[in-house]
Amino acid sequence: MGVRLPPGVPNIRDTDLIVDDHKKWMGWAIREAEKAFSQDEVPVGAVVLFEDRIIGKGYNQTETLQDPTAHAEMIAISAAANSLKSWRLENCSLYVTLEPCAMCAGAIVLARIESIVIGAMDPKAGACGSLRNVLQDHRLNHQTEIQYGIMEEESSDLLKVFFQRLREQKT
Ligand code: ZN
Repeated sequence: MGVRLPPGVPNIRDTDLIVDDHKKWMGWAIREAEKAFSQDEVPVGAVVLFEDRIIGKGYNQTETLQDPTAHAEMIAISAAANSLKSWRLENCSLYVTLEPCAMCAGAIVLARIESIVIGAMDPKAGACGSLRNVLQDHRLNHQTEIQYGIMEEESSDLLKVFFQRLREQKT
């Protein structure tokens, strides 16, 4: 039998469950990032979730496609919009291994995504709290909730190994 808590007091068990769920879905985003890694792309991956299932996946393909807009989030958002046959991704969540840039954060707002979950932060280009916060700019007509730091180590380790390898190849 569950413990009944007064309203407003977070139930620790429920919180644990939510974190476990976030980790499960972030695991899928990391698998996408690993695909990028294996194709010599900066390893970033993203998935879009709707009603507890993945409706769009993507990984960074900037080099392969020679397209500056081919970020993981953009590909996942396009795939999700395709699945729902709607550009409105209300009630969807996006899981991404690295804090989105200004372009991707713009797309998240335009798609009206309800919430995003971020793995690692990007102090050099992040637009969801680092350099600016496009997702929670109240001058815009939509704001997106942000959850930080889910599987942060796994997400940033992939990037660290990738850039380390790149430096070694150059020397
Ligand atoms: Zn981006």
